Amino acid sequence: MKSHKKILFIISVVLLLLMFAIVVNVSVNFRDYSYKAAVDKAKVTAEYVRDGLTAHMVNGIMDKREIFINNVKNHKDIKDLWIIRSDTVKKQYGNGFDNEIVRDGIDQDVLKTGKTKYNFVENAKEAVLRITIPYKATAYSTPNCLKCHDAKEGEVLGAISIKLDITGIRNTGVVTILKIVAISLVFIIIALFAINYYFKPLMSLIEELNKMIHYAHRGDFSKRINVTLKDNDEGNMVIEQMNNLFAKLQGTFQDLKDSLKTFVDNSNIACSDPIQESKNIIHELSDIYKFKKTIELDATYEDVLERVYYILSNKFYIKEYALYIVNKKQNTRETLYSTSKNAVICQNATFEEASLCRAHRTNLDVVSDDFEHICKYSDTNNQNYVCIPFDINKEISIIISIVSDDKEEFKEIQQKISHIKNYLEAAKPVLESRFLTKKLEDSSLKDALTRLYNRRFLEQFIEKFTNQAERSNHIYAVMMVDIDYFKMVNDTYGHDIGDLVIQKLSTVIKENIREADLAIRYGGEEFLVLLYNPEKEKTLEVAERFSQKFKAIKFQANGESFTKTLSIGISFYPEQADSIWKAIKYADTALYEAKESGRDKIVVFEEKMYKGGENY
Ligand code: GH3
Ligand code: MG
Ligand code: MG
Repeated sequence: MKSHKKILFIISVVLLLLMFAIVVNVSVNFRDYSYKAAVDKAKVTAEYVRDGLTAHMVNGIMDKREIFINNVKNHKDIKDLWIIRSDTVKKQYGNGFDNEIVRDGIDQDVLKTGKTKYNFVENAKEAVLRITIPYKATAYSTPNCLKCHDAKEGEVLGAISIKLDITGIRNTGVVTILKIVAISLVFIIIALFAINYYFKPLMSLIEELNKMIHYAHRGDFSKRINVTLKDNDEGNMVIEQMNNLFAKLQGTFQDLKDSLKTFVDNSNIACSDPIQESKNIIHELSDIYKFKKTIELDATYEDVLERVYYILSNKFYIKEYALYIVNKKQNTRETLYSTSKNAVICQNATFEEASLCRAHRTNLDVVSDDFEHICKYSDTNNQNYVCIPFDINKEISIIISIVSDDKEEFKEIQQKISHIKNYLEAAKPVLESRFLTKKLEDSSLKDALTRLYNRRFLEQFIEKFTNQAERSNHIYAVMMVDIDYFKMVNDTYGHDIGDLVIQKLSTVIKENIREADLAIRYGGEEFLVLLYNPEKEKTLEVAERFSQKFKAIKFQANGESFTKTLSIGISFYPEQADSIWKAIKYADTALYEAKESGRDKIVVFEEKMYKGGENY
């Protein structure tokens, strides 16, 4: 039931109850009053009859009393009236007239007890009050009863029964009550009408307010109260102020949301509630701020990316993903991290030629849902995938590829992309700076001509490598490689050709060692190669390969072609030397031996070759 109807119902019930109470009260009072009035009238009539009879007695005209009684009986409202004699009177004066006999038990009772009796009979037609009042003998009345009656003081001499018709009074009472009911009903209707007139708009105002607040709870501040109250200026003022307040709130929250939106891409946390959305954005900003503050203290780009992996796994609950780094200048890619082999969906070709990777080439997210075989260079085993490219600087970009077997999970992953990008965006300046640091470090530790590590690197890091080897009981084969009669190349064909020869040798070395091995440009055309944990024969095989491959290169200059040979000295650490520096020296000694014994040779160090100082 609507509120205003409820109020009307309650008021109606209260008014009807009030009317009912009034009616009951008036009825009871009226009945009491008419009863008392009838009783009083009966008493007065009884007195009157007694006095009349006494007068008849005193005047000796007792035999004429019937005329008097009949006259009284004919009185309006007296339906019947009779007198009766007690046995004492009958004994003294006879039985009296025929109608002066005891008519019923009431008469008998009153003669016997001397107490007045009342009997009220009422039906729809009439209401009759019967009163029977005893006449008692007394010496103290005027005239003295005992003078004429042979009776004792207080003895019952007779009684009078009067039937009073009070139908008229009763009917008047009923009419009065009906009038009260009618008047009350008219007033109730008027009251309800007036209440409805004033309350209905107030109630609809409350309903509208309720609706407005309900929507506001869900973040929708666009609702307004569209009610105007009749003759209620205060109410209309409340409406106006509420509407203004909500308009202000709507504008403020929208502005707040719009301003916050500029800080992060909120497409995945957007919702219709601007307060909730602002809250989401602030949470997001706070999380990203913490992330940013943390990574700012990370020393290397690898450390920063570790945090990105952590966020992907533990914040976004992504199970299968891989992160690739693209070297834009070289157009190559490599996998920096993958949760499992399954997460690497790219074909090998994309690593050698990064532009084959669609995400890298287009710099747009590649989503497997968008088109069948959207990326031609993915081997997916029917997995869903999304590849997110992210530029770090002019030289480097990263690509995160996320895969999932589960369609539902994949949908959720897609919703997280913008969120993930917010983190990447936050990490970008730090990554950029760490990559730059790494590049600077590399350039100061690498030789510009051959891109191999230089002597500085050797000085800084060689102990780190060899300590590890010592701990794990591994060995290094130390090779010193030098081009024979190189000076001649410079002298004959110029410095540029000399550079080319040096570059070619570095390529030969790079192509014939493993990842765990280390090649260093030790001097002008002299290279130091450390083979990690090799067998002896393998060391000689590698040296032989350097020699053969290099010798096979035909250099062209000044219309001529020429070839060059290598001399290689080898020592083993820690087998032959207790420090790496000593081992290098011994390899150099072996190289000297190779040069001395005619060049284009591979010589393994022997104790007898070394006659120098032992200060290593
Ligand atoms: P061998 O080793 O057989 O005894 O004779 P060599 O002619 O190779 O002797 P040496 O080691 O004295 O010559 C090295 C020359 O390499 C000297 C130097 O001018 C040249 N050189 C050093 N660095 C570079 C470089 O970066 N580019 C060029 N083109 N030449 C260099
Ligand atoms: Mg040389
Ligand atoms: Mg040399």
